[in-house]
Amino acid sequence: MRKLAAGNWKMNGLAAALTEVQALIAAHPAPACDMLLCPPATLIAQMAGTTKGSALHIGGQDCHINAAGAHTGDIAAQMLSDAGASHVILGHSERRADHGETDALVLAKTSAAWAAGLIAVVCIGETEAQRNDGSTLDVIGAQLAGSVPAAATPQNLVIAYEPVWAIGTGRTPTLAEIAEVHAFLRARLTDRFAAAAADMRLLYGGSVKPSNATGIFALPHVDGALVGGASLKAADFGAIVAALSAA
Ligand code: PEP
Repeated sequence: MRKLAAGNWKMNGLAAALTEVQALIAAHPAPACDMLLCPPATLIAQMAGTTKGSALHIGGQDCHINAAGAHTGDIAAQMLSDAGASHVILGHSERRADHGETDALVLAKTSAAWAAGLIAVVCIGETEAQRNDGSTLDVIGAQLAGSVPAAATPQNLVIAYEPVWAIGTGRTPTLAEIAEVHAFLRARLTDRFAAAAADMRLLYGGSVKPSNATGIFALPHVDGALVGGASLKAADFGAIVAALSAA
């Protein structure tokens, strides 16, 4: 399977930031892994326009469950696709925390994304309290079961394991802890999707940076990363792309 280096710009980035994207493409015209950047919705069309024909895929950061309608401020999956996106991040812990998104809602959003032809990057992960009380595998097992529809395939689904306490903090689980969770996720996917599970990409996310990427990418069942802060600068994200390409 081709691995995936995905960047989540969150609520960062004005048009001037597109120079970073051009620098990224220039430095990595044909990487040995897939590259994805998910900018704010305001930049999707422009970014997709300037990167057309390049190795970089563009994604949204959320979508509504409905295809259209009276939902002020929301964005439909088909709108993301229409603007040039091929992927969408769903169920990010910041959406789950800030907007009360539940597994059931993420499941419905994933189906909506597929209906529009998008690849869903579904995020799951435990809080620090859950990690400390030993319930990590129970929590992420439940999130995986509740957030991923039965029609998942390696072509339409990417899973991102993102411990909430590791996002934007500079802290990460140990390599052994990441390996444990990824092996668990692969086993759960295999229970549900049989042989197809082997080709479903499992990303690690949470304070990935150039200095820790190589160690994380060497772990079994880690098929790439979802990167927040370090995806904003071409040099940092490019170094992560290079580490993944070499893994
Ligand atoms: C994220 O936003 O999904 C993320 C992993 O952020 P960071 O890399 O900044 O921890």
